[in-house]
Amino acid sequence: MRRSLVVGNWKMNGTRASSESLAKGIVAGLVSDHADIAVCAPYVYLPYIAEVVKGTELALGSQNVADQASGAYTGEISATMLKEIGVTYALVGHSERRSYYGDTDASVAARFKQAQEQGIIPILCVGETLEEREQDKTFSVINKQLDAVIDLVGIASFDAAVIAYEPVWAIGTGKTATDEQAQEVHYYIRQYIAAKDQVIADKIQILYGGSAKPDNAKGLFAMPDIDGGLIGGASLDAESFLKIFNSI
Ligand code: PEP
Repeated sequence: MRRSLVVGNWKMNGTRASSESLAKGIVAGLVSDHADIAVCAPYVYLPYIAEVVKGTELALGSQNVADQASGAYTGEISATMLKEIGVTYALVGHSERRSYYGDTDASVAARFKQAQEQGIIPILCVGETLEEREQDKTFSVINKQLDAVIDLVGIASFDAAVIAYEPVWAIGTGKTATDEQAQEVHYYIRQYIAAKDQVIADKIQILYGGSAKPDNAKGLFAMPDIDGGLIGGASLDAESFLKIFNSI
């Protein structure tokens, strides 16, 4: 049986004080370890949040990672730097990175590789836009996003990775995929992996992301191929994030 995982993506929100207080609120409310839990804080707050979560069940994640190991890449943050701070997970390929900052399938694959080389678990975000869904391209878009990574690092690398299915049309829009819509794609992703490696397919955590909230999380998490969630807006409030976590 797969263990579930709930990850908060704080995006570019908060201050040092509000971020520390949010992390403390989550830690204080963690009464059960029925699933894994993590928060992806802004880079500059990671060292402070690392102090708050030390020795607790709450793991630390970053919202991206450089596609190069080190060198003349002004403004980038390497996997080695993140590892040194105590980061366990790194989001790669979030749709906001892909659409606003030009992260391509190839650079996402390189980020995935860099994270893994430092023992950081990449959370590979995949998902289609509304236009792609309406044109029946959902599965081909996801194939392409997965293939870029599989071609670079091989299917065996998914043994230490997480996939997040995030339909772009559901992120931050208040429009959640229905339980069945999400399950259909999660099942598809698992079968796609299974065709290459059944053991990894059975093991890998596939999270749903896109306007997940305390009132819709239970239904989503009850679906057989949904192993938890990547939570944006609702992770900025400790109580609602914990409610989502507790609905697993
Ligand atoms: C996200 O940023 O990954 C996300 C799912 O955001 P939201 O929950 O706000 O839609």
